Formats: sequence, C-alpha cells, structure tokens
Amino acid sequence: MSEEEARVQRNERFDAYIVGKKGNRVFVVDRDRCKGCRICASICPYDALVMSSDKTHRGFFYPIENGKCTACRQCLYACPDFVLSIHDLQEVTS
Ligand code: SF4
Ligand code: SF4
Repeated sequence: MSEEEARVQRNERFDAYIVGKKGNRVFVVDRDRCKGCRICASICPYDALVMSSDKTHRGFFYPIENGKCTACRQCLYACPDFVLSIHDLQEVTS
C-alpha cells in the first residue's frame, strides 16, 4: 500500500473520505463532489495539499493532505464546491 493509499480512508458518517490525519485532527474530502480544479492545493500557504494519483468516479483528481496542514482553513473557504472540512477525530468516529 502506498503512502497515498494509506492516507485515504472512507468515512461512512460523513459519506466522504479522510485524506489526512494529524494528532486528533482529520482532513475530510467529499471526494465525489470534487471537480479537480486544484484551487485548494494552489492556495495552501503550507504546501499541505497534493493531488491524488487516482481519479474519482467522475474522472477528477482530488486533494490529499500530506501532513503539513496547520488547519488555517483557507482552502476550506476557497473551494467553490464546499468539498473540504476539518474535524476532530472523535467527530468522525463517534
Ligand atoms: S487548512 Fe490551511 S494548511 Fe491545511 S491544507 Fe488547507 S490551506 Fe493548507
Ligand atoms: S478546490 Fe474543491 S473542487 Fe477544487 S480540487 Fe480542491 S476540493 Fe476539489
């Protein structure tokens, strides 16, 4: 399993994918709604988002958090489709 595959994990509660974990914080992508525009990755001041190597069922690459995220939330507000969110691990597992 690649490092990228290890970071991507289906989350039933949010009907989305966890694509990054840091301490008690998880970075969640509603992968099926992502249109692969890369705005999130280009706006991140910490270079914390890389685009996936696999594609969604709609044929788009999606962002994966690489461990550098500071939870500044700029990408959450920049995404035109409200695809991204950050949560406490307990929120997504309880
Ligand atoms: S929350 Fe901030 S640091 Fe984290 S991926 Fe988004 S823009 Fe980058
Ligand atoms: S800005 Fe939103 S729609 Fe665009 S690639 Fe990022 S998550 Fe996907």
